[in-house]
Amino acid sequence: MPPLLGACASGPRAAAAPAPAPRFAPPAPLVPIRASADRIIAVDVCTRPFRAQGPRIEAERMDGHTIVHCYGHGGAGWSLSWGSAEEALRLVRETGARELAVVGCGAIGLTTALLAQRSGLQVRIYARERLPQVPSAFATGVWSPASRIASADHAAPAFETQWERMARASFRTFQTLLGLPGEPVGWHDFYWLSDGPGARRANAGDEREPRYAMLEGRLLGDITPAAERLAPGAHPFRAVSVRRAAQPVFNLHAYSRLLLADFLQLGGAIETRTFHAPREFTTLRETTVVNATGHGAGALLGDASVVPVRGQTARLVPQPGVDYGLGYGGRNLFVVPRTDGILVQAQQASDYDNADTTPDRALSVAAVERLAEVFA
Ligand SMILES: Cc1cc2nc3c(=O)[nH]c(=O)nc-3n(C[C@H](O)[C@H](O)[C@H](O)COP(=O)(O)OP(=O)(O)OC[C@H]3O[C@@H](n4cnc5c(N)ncnc54)[C@H](O)[C@@H]3O)c2cc1C
Repeated sequence: MPPLLGACASGPRAAAAPAPAPRFAPPAPLVPIRASADRIIAVDVCTRPFRAQGPRIEAERMDGHTIVHCYGHGGAGWSLSWGSAEEALRLVRETGARELAVVGCGAIGLTTALLAQRSGLQVRIYARERLPQVPSAFATGVWSPASRIASADHAAPAFETQWERMARASFRTFQTLLGLPGEPVGWHDFYWLSDGPGARRANAGDEREPRYAMLEGRLLGDITPAAERLAPGAHPFRAVSVRRAAQPVFNLHAYSRLLLADFLQLGGAIETRTFHAPREFTTLRETTVVNATGHGAGALLGDASVVPVRGQTARLVPQPGVDYGLGYGGRNLFVVPRTDGILVQAQQASDYDNADTTPDRALSVAAVERLAEVFA
């Protein structure tokens, strides 16, 4: 075995037996998060466009136009975006179109538009709002490809195959976005806290909420870093059990700007426009149209399968040195070390089928107070 770096600095000692070398250098002590309500700089709410049967990615013919629907990505839209775009573009290619319209400028619309440009298509985006004014901008920003993506009852083998293809394609793309200025995408350690075996989650959920398909552990094990259990004293948290694992983080402000800039640089155009009925797609000069309207597809198409699942996040003043995330089911806490602020998320039992996007500051203040207790 080659000597560890620095091991020869003082020369080997003859008398004492060498202590066994640690496999890894111990991590630096964690900087505690300054969790107090006065440091909350934003409270945001958006809804996950959940469909029990998974995202709708299929083509429909309409008055000489081909509409490729691509919506309903639940709590996994950012994570699956690049793979979802590949699925949609497979259907676009069948039309032979050289010009493409994309309706929607969120995570799904923008990544689909970019991938289409990279394969040589001329792309115009039409949207009521564009990033960062769309629901996608208010997501948590972590790799969560199976989050509320389908109900367990609907996860048939064909869906699982498509989901795995989308997740792996996206994962590969995210690794090409590392190391960029502003860190649009990064990897960070997350600490998973629990109150020990048999401990219950603080948020029991809504009885109307379906059992979600659990896909990640079963289908993506080879690309998911293993969690290591930490000994008491090896971490600063007040919890019975602590595990640590690395996870991708999307710094959504920097990442959205990068995607928009790339789209415009490749000759893309964005037109502000609201569609009131699907027939309006056929008034577009492009005869192939990707419908990436997210939750908006429910009202636009009269598609009752799109269910809003409310989610609220707060951001604390960015704190240099805090580069780790934290999840604590027993305290209803999820914390992400984003460059645009330390994001604190808490769930409510009434989130399912709840389209109310009015921020509830008291909910976020309570979550921040629970976070402070974790370091007490
Ligand atoms: C709290 C929360 C946390 C989340 N965290 C994560 C996470 O950590 N990781 C992850 O991968 N995913 C996460 N998600 C899920 C992710 O945010 C969504 O799946 C994703 O944003 C969906 O993107 P979209 O482009 O389909 O929809 P949207 O962002 O809603 O974009 C829809 C676009 O269509 C346009 N549009 C809609 N209707 C019309 C119309 N009638 N006419 C014209 N334009 C229209 C809108 O203006 C917009 O441009 C989270 C979601 C929530 C709510």
